[in-house]
Amino acid sequence: MGSDPDRYEFVCPSCREDVVVDSMVQAELLGRGCLFCRADVAETDFGPVD
Ligand SMILES: [Zn+2]
Repeated sequence: MGSDPDRYEFVCPSCREDVVVDSMVQAELLGRGCLFCRADVAETDFGPVD
């Protein structure tokens, strides 16, 4: 029944790492940067999960 609204696909703008996260992890990424390379992350780096 459609996609889970609490899931986001994150693609790092710097290292291109691709991971599906929930809103809590999204907030952490926005606050602390990419888990993998520490680049700054913006809300535009998140998209809907198919
Ligand atoms: Zn990264």
